[in-house]
Amino acid sequence: MWNVSLALGFGGICFLVIGIMAWRRPSTGLYLFKRIARHRLSRQRPYLAGENEIAVLLCGTGSPLPDPKRAGPSALIAAGDKLFVIDAGSASVRNLLLWRVPLGQLEGVFVTHFHSDHIAELGELNLQSWVAGRSAPLKVYGPPGIERVIAGFNQAYAHDTAYRTLHHGADLLALHAAGMEAITVTIPPDNGTGVVLEADGVKITAIRVKHDPVKPAYGYRFDFRGRSIVISGDTAADQNLATAAKGADVLVHDALNPQMVKALEDALTMSANLRAAKIMQDIPGYHASPLDAASIANTAGVRLLVFTHMVPMLPNQAAERMFLNGVRAARPHGVELGHDGRLIRLPGNSTVLQTTTLQG
Ligand SMILES: [Zn+2]
Ligand SMILES: [Zn+2]
Repeated sequence: MWNVSLALGFGGICFLVIGIMAWRRPSTGLYLFKRIARHRLSRQRPYLAGENEIAVLLCGTGSPLPDPKRAGPSALIAAGDKLFVIDAGSASVRNLLLWRVPLGQLEGVFVTHFHSDHIAELGELNLQSWVAGRSAPLKVYGPPGIERVIAGFNQAYAHDTAYRTLHHGADLLALHAAGMEAITVTIPPDNGTGVVLEADGVKITAIRVKHDPVKPAYGYRFDFRGRSIVISGDTAADQNLATAAKGADVLVHDALNPQMVKALEDALTMSANLRAAKIMQDIPGYHASPLDAASIANTAGVRLLVFTHMVPMLPNQAAERMFLNGVRAARPHGVELGHDGRLIRLPGNSTVLQTTTLQG
């Protein structure tokens, strides 16, 4: 199966040793391979959240720009044993599999908007959670238009899921559970927010954000056991988000550094790449700057601001420092640059923030 093949993606050194041994004595190579496979496949699943905890795992902190260190935008919320994914950017599902997140427990997916970087791996997320044991269609919540997106993915994967049921049997991979079910989330025109779901102590609220011409575009707030996490989605600076994030523990916010993007635009213009230069000229209006996001976090009084969806790419610490220029002055504490694998755990009814990073 796919999880197994991923888990067998050993480091180069193991392959080198096995390769040399197998070349010299095939039986020794196979013995070593079996030992390593047993060790790798018996690894524990990651501890995401306890019964009374909520946690956010950053599955992809990149943007549409290609970045070898960051998958496309995606985050996972664990509220007790309930798992929710917000957006499914490119390579984010591979991260979830490498970290051995139990995708069979996935309760639902929340789509912020339909830019391709946020929906690229919806099909894979659905497929992998089905393979991992999900027993009903995957619920996918999103703004009006989600029905069309989900119908398209279901159609695109119809051949694949039929093959897999035929191959592995309906007891393992039941066809009735294979697809996704679209659930349209509407926020009344006069409201800035709307409650999407309230069950088992988890409250999920959609937040209208500014990402013109994408309308509507949403962020989401998750409340559980007196703790709260807000995912901004893609947005320019938005006071409605500040209001909806009031008192949240963690705000995961997109950000674009306009000075750095302008420098890219100038460089592209000088190298006569005018198509890419035009795109660089257009995108600053889409996203908050790091300073905007810091200001929103301060207004909302959130405990921790985590940057995600960083534009442009930040290949080294010098670029990271440039990206954050001025942020420390505006917000001296409670701010960090997100990275893939970052896990922030919030024990219920407390003020504790526990942070760690999952490794593949
Ligand atoms: Zn977008
Ligand atoms: Zn985006």
